[in-house]
Amino acid sequence: MKRAFLTLLAFTCCLLSFAQPTGNNVNRPKLVVGIVIDQMRWDYLYKYSPFFDKDGGFLRLLNNGFSCENTFIPYTPTVTAAGHTSIYTGSVPAIDGIVGNTWINRQNNKTVYCADDDTAKTIGAADEAGEMSPRNLVVSTITDELRLATNFSSKVIGVSIKDRAAIFPAGHLANAAYWYDAVAGNFISSSYYMNELPAWANDFNKRKLTDSLYKLNWTLSLPDSVYQQHCGNDEQPYERKPFGDNQTHFPYTLTSFIKKDYTKIDVTPYGNTLLEAFAENTVVNENLGRNTNTDFLTVSFSSPDYIGHSFGSESWEQMDDYIKLDKTLGKFFAFLDAQVGAGNYLVFLTADHGVVNSPGFAQQHKLPGGSFNEVMLANSIKQLMLVKYSSPNIIKGLNEDQIYLNHDIIDSLHLNEDEVINSIIQFTEQRPGIARAFALKDLSATTLTPVQKQMYSNTYFPQRSGDIQYVLAPGYVAGDGMGTSHGLWNPYDAHIPLLWYGWNIKAGKTNRETYMTDISATVAALLHIQMPSGCVGKVIPEVFKQ
Ligand SMILES: [Zn+2]
Repeated sequence: MKRAFLTLLAFTCCLLSFAQPTGNNVNRPKLVVGIVIDQMRWDYLYKYSPFFDKDGGFLRLLNNGFSCENTFIPYTPTVTAAGHTSIYTGSVPAIDGIVGNTWINRQNNKTVYCADDDTAKTIGAADEAGEMSPRNLVVSTITDELRLATNFSSKVIGVSIKDRAAIFPAGHLANAAYWYDAVAGNFISSSYYMNELPAWANDFNKRKLTDSLYKLNWTLSLPDSVYQQHCGNDEQPYERKPFGDNQTHFPYTLTSFIKKDYTKIDVTPYGNTLLEAFAENTVVNENLGRNTNTDFLTVSFSSPDYIGHSFGSESWEQMDDYIKLDKTLGKFFAFLDAQVGAGNYLVFLTADHGVVNSPGFAQQHKLPGGSFNEVMLANSIKQLMLVKYSSPNIIKGLNEDQIYLNHDIIDSLHLNEDEVINSIIQFTEQRPGIARAFALKDLSATTLTPVQKQMYSNTYFPQRSGDIQYVLAPGYVAGDGMGTSHGLWNPYDAHIPLLWYGWNIKAGKTNRETYMTDISATVAALLHIQMPSGCVGKVIPEVFKQ
């Protein structure tokens, strides 16, 4: 009897172990492609759309995909590291820890670069440009969650010209992140991910595509009159001259940089061409979109940011850059159709931040705004501290519109900290170009508007944030008045495009207010994977086909 029972048990176990699961297979795309355009205001979609290819790049997404027309960044500072992090974490700096491109370390007073990692080594060049990793990021990314959901069988790779724009999107568990080392003229990586570049990446670098692109020089895509009509004059007194003082207008000669200077490509549309070529190589050589599980490629185009900072948002250079970027995107989508198959990949396209009009342009046209010199502010506060409290070192420094205090010195001088803070606030608020200043610890008690209060509170991370926040007046921008910049709460910096296209995305648009943090929440819902660990965003159900 006992033997019969055991035989039956063994038979049942055998049956169970060979039983086929009968549940639903999770339906997912072959590949997710996250595209970030560095420094793209939402209105650029329409400002430049007369010059975009019909159904090629931007318009393929806008006309056939889904557009979230009112997508905002819910925090300040609206800068590259914080933006790329928020897009891929669904989180905000107060939770994810990436409070800016840099911050001041409270222990040693040193400025920390967001992606710095002194335990990491450069892979692919003999310099320090690869001593980077996502270690300062304290939450998971949507790309991490995809790796976790598939027991690490999904491949995740991040590519960009900028290191931070490749590293944070790709997350902690990435198979690789690659960025452009402008000194070496190579795409490089970090020992965080690998011990050596794959052979295909070395081969790509050996081609020195940058030199071939320099040979083409930078000429306009359309007749001069079109740019004149849309942007005014080519040469403006507030434009920088990144290609040398003798080059002040189109066409720009780039041949003199061949084999000499690999940095200049960043400030041309060829930075986008170079990155797209590297992205195609990544997809082919890593078989992205042809593996068993969903893969994820993050691509961040940095050149619009370099061009905007140099020439301003209303320049011929930026208009031509977007016309050429549109063609580059069209080429990339056609490549993905052929390589992965139309309908098999999911795309979202967004920006890490927008940008304000050049302060010089604002002044020319009697608009409110101007440039704000933060070095002068820092020096004058130090002078104030010297006169009032006999020590200029009461402030450690300024970073991302925040003032950091040296609490040890305040203690050793037996000063009343609130009194020190109030004296700095009163002084700072009187400076031209500054709208408000307040102690971050007292944020909830300020009379800021609810929108501003929420945006500043979404960035307060005590270990990395400063003590006093100042808010520039609308139209004002930190710097020397040349080119332009971004980083504030205002719509020109915070209103970004958000387009969805491809697998399981319907055509349409919404004017409902959505947020940068909703992107990862929505990707998680589309893929049926867990939201990242610090995600505060909400799913945008309107984009789903089913
Ligand atoms: Zn940026």
